[in-house]
Amino acid sequence: MVWRTARRLDEALAGRALACSDFRVPRFATTDLTGRTVAGTVSRGKHLLTRVDGGLTVHTHLRMDGSWRIRPAGGYLPRDHRIRLVLGNDVQQALGYLLGIVEVLPTQNEERVVGHLGPDLLGPDWDAAEAVRRLQADPGRPVGEALLDQRNLAGIGNLYQAETLFLRGVSPWRPIGTVDGLPDVVDLARRLLDANKERVGQVTTGNVAPGRETWVHGRARRPCRRCGTPIRKASLGTAPEQRITFWCPRCQPG
Ligand SMILES: [Zn+2]
Repeated sequence: MVWRTARRLDEALAGRALACSDFRVPRFATTDLTGRTVAGTVSRGKHLLTRVDGGLTVHTHLRMDGSWRIRPAGGYLPRDHRIRLVLGNDVQQALGYLLGIVEVLPTQNEERVVGHLGPDLLGPDWDAAEAVRRLQADPGRPVGEALLDQRNLAGIGNLYQAETLFLRGVSPWRPIGTVDGLPDVVDLARRLLDANKERVGQVTTGNVAPGRETWVHGRARRPCRRCGTPIRKASLGTAPEQRITFWCPRCQPG
């Protein structure tokens, strides 16, 4: 999860001067941040912002396949063509693999890359009422699609969208304007994200065995854990990113 990735980067890099700065993307191939101290890394929705002294921010995004790996400093840098960015100090190195976005911008311009985001479900300034207001602004939109739109609220991916709607018994196709208790849906999504933010690639939702299973996500054609009906899977919306939902047609009617 992006929140946890931000914290790992923060722990590895914050408070120390960069001894290694290797941008392997054409636009920033000559950028060198060596010698600058890292102030910290925060997540905003699915974006990562690593701030360094001198008023610069390294903006990265994992998209579908990206990841960061932390390792002890020293040794040679791998030639792996999947690496897009290496930032390191005398103690640790962070290797960014297959990052969807790598760019450097003035910290004061961060709004340009994250200003469009709705309230961040795991952010310090989470605003549930504002998130609900944005969601309701387009009442005919399928709720599953609206929850994934980071302009409404930032932080829900395919997995938590599907799990949240299953647990609330709401079909992802229902127009959001007809969803009763939308604030409860949003609150549940936030609690699921918060409860799982420390986890690596695992999820706990409701009464499913901790850390191992989901209710519907990734379970197409397998029997619903509640009613046995085969779980369905379909694409959602037309966003540039891959949007997929899973649902039980019986537990989540209409
Ligand atoms: Zn079911």
